[in-house]
Amino acid sequence: MTQGALSFSEPGFSGPSDLHLHSDHSDGTESPAEVVRAAHAHGIRTLALTDHDRTTGWAEAGEAAAALGMTFLPGIELSSRHEWRSVHVLGYLFDPDEPQLVAETERIRLDRVGRAERIVRSIARDYDLSWADVLAQTTPDATVGRPHIADALVARGIVADRTAAFAGILHPRSGYYEPHYAPDPLTAVRLITRAGGVAVIAHPVTAGRDRMLPVPYLERLIAEGLGGFEVDHRENTEDGKRMLRDISARHDLIITGSSDYHGAGKPNRPGENTTSDEMVARIIDRATGTPPRFP
Ligand code: AMP
Ligand code: ZN
Ligand code: FE
Ligand code: FE
Repeated sequence: MTQGALSFSEPGFSGPSDLHLHSDHSDGTESPAEVVRAAHAHGIRTLALTDHDRTTGWAEAGEAAAALGMTFLPGIELSSRHEWRSVHVLGYLFDPDEPQLVAETERIRLDRVGRAERIVRSIARDYDLSWADVLAQTTPDATVGRPHIADALVARGIVADRTAAFAGILHPRSGYYEPHYAPDPLTAVRLITRAGGVAVIAHPVTAGRDRMLPVPYLERLIAEGLGGFEVDHRENTEDGKRMLRDISARHDLIITGSSDYHGAGKPNRPGENTTSDEMVARIIDRATGTPPRFP
């Protein structure tokens, strides 16, 4: 990658780097500052906050990172769908005020609320659960998702934890599942790229849950400006990782490794997978939307 005269990476950064973490601005259980401190305690020195479909945690996370001498990359995990597959697109260093991206994330977040209410109405036919229970588990800033319904089920004593909720009542084949509005992955990649960001497909080869996007479709995403793939993620299969490394080598793409930390909501710990300094530098060099925040 060539380095421009005004490269964002000019002041430098240091790893280990974890580029996929969630706060309570989406479905993590900790505030953005707490997420940053947890990452630091696990040895991470460069991190990205990637809340689902919103950017409101950036300022707090950036402050907390600066206070600890860490480098902060603003990010997002944008919801998209291809046919029946839910596809998550990570975006880094884009302009958070780009109007089309702002409009699309607002549309997704709004529909997520209606969808969560429909899921709860359906569950409430069989279990003692109300929408107020879910609201009680949701901060005013949060992008509402199934994890908040899971927390309400836990609070009601119906399931033991989020994992049990996802294995049962919240599973797509439980009979209670509903999708929410999401753009197709081509649109998601385009929105992030046109906002000056770098788009990376999150956990593209998760076992069982989502089957992989067809390779010709991945190649369309690459043609549309896709930056790379999140290869090292605990839910990617080993076979799938090999395939992603092959495609990435063939198309000279960025590959990342990350934790997908959700605080107490998932067993994933910060730094359980990391991204190499070379790949972080490529993300920074490629982006034109928002600079990273260096210490
Ligand atoms: P939603 O976007 O509302 O469909 O919910 C998906 C979110 O739930 C993702 O952010 C996942 O990280 C989270 N999730 C999926 N499976 C689990 C699980 N077994 N335990 C906790 N969180 C999960
Ligand atoms: Zn999540
Ligand atoms: Fe995801
Ligand atoms: Fe995630």
